[in-house]
Amino acid sequence: MANPSLLILAGDGIGPEVMNEVKRIIDWFGAKRDLAFDVSEDLVGGAAYDKHGVPLHDDTMAKAQSVDAVLLGAVGGPKYDDLDFSVKPERGLLRLRKEMDLFANLRPAQCFDALADFSSLKKDIVAGLDIMIVRELTSGVYFGEPRGIHMEDNMRVGINTQRYTEAEIERGARAAFELAMKRGKKLCSMEKANVMESGILWRDVVTEVHRDYPEVELSHMYADNGAMQLVRAPKQFDVIYTDNLFGDILSDCAAMLTGSLGMLPSASLGLPMANGRPKAMYEPVHGSAPDITGQGKANPIACILSFAMALRYSFDQGAEADRLEAAIEKVLADGARTADLMGPEGGTPLSTTQMGDVILSALDESL
Ligand code: NAD
Repeated sequence: MANPSLLILAGDGIGPEVMNEVKRIIDWFGAKRDLAFDVSEDLVGGAAYDKHGVPLHDDTMAKAQSVDAVLLGAVGGPKYDDLDFSVKPERGLLRLRKEMDLFANLRPAQCFDALADFSSLKKDIVAGLDIMIVRELTSGVYFGEPRGIHMEDNMRVGINTQRYTEAEIERGARAAFELAMKRGKKLCSMEKANVMESGILWRDVVTEVHRDYPEVELSHMYADNGAMQLVRAPKQFDVIYTDNLFGDILSDCAAMLTGSLGMLPSASLGLPMANGRPKAMYEPVHGSAPDITGQGKANPIACILSFAMALRYSFDQGAEADRLEAAIEKVLADGARTADLMGPEGGTPLSTTQMGDVILSALDESL
């Protein structure tokens, strides 16, 4: 059988630096676990603009549609800040999400014990935290029509429209229930059904889908209360399902419970392809970090954890994903730190490559 295929789009800034470490991890799985991938690489963001004048070439888009999963580094940087909106590096990312129809954005918020002191919350509130936010990514107020700024009675008026079809709510809800079945069998749906009709529909549809997942304990929460609960007692949650706008805010809030931006992975999933695997793109939450680019300071863990999500959600390799996550947990427990993870006690930080080295050693030890 052919190896599963991966398209690597390392992008800009620290994207290629952190992706280099992921490539070494991918090679390790090929050499030591008989889990080889057909890896191809291409340009996205500013790097694609420099070569092609567009942040994503049509050929790259076609490749992304044909592979089993896309791994993306980061896009953007000051060099591209003044470009026209239509060719900004971020447009490459948005085009991938839109044309691959990646409607379910999975953002885990997991607190590694060794880093519990990094949270802005008290250690006992976050230690052992493991929650997953599923954000609807392709609809809602960021896309709804009408939108724009126009004049009314000599005054400017800004309009955006929150619009959801029941099909859009339902497919995301199914993704969230499926995840809950594989985790702690608890799902909390968040909307504002008290003040928004789209919230009432959201609640109705999620309740209907729940009939197909009777084993999952479903609760509903207003999103503003959800924000409070996330910082008050985050461990009450397992999976949270919410819309594009609330998900944008709530997932950033949950992410910060765990400390550094350099630790946060994400997955964006679409409908199943002919081979049964979902359309999928995996990427760290952080950006291209121009302030540390080229200095060997970037933490590669967010990008490596994104590959662990690919193992779990695209390739049905949950045990190997566990192995990789355990290796990361071990090196952190042993005190390995990149500069962003240095506490007040100081010490010498590891470089990007050195962090890759110790994770590879921990993987070797796991055999
Ligand atoms: P950023 O995430 O790039 O950086 C924010 C801060 O976190 C910086 O101080 C950076 O050094 C630090 N940081 C980020 N990732 C790190 C890592 N892996 N290891 C250590 N430290 C890390 O956000 P920003 O500075 O607001 O944006 C920089 C550029 O990235 C902009 O052009 C922005 O548009 C783009 N951006 C891209 C994405 C993406 O590709 N998905 C996401 C956010 C921002």
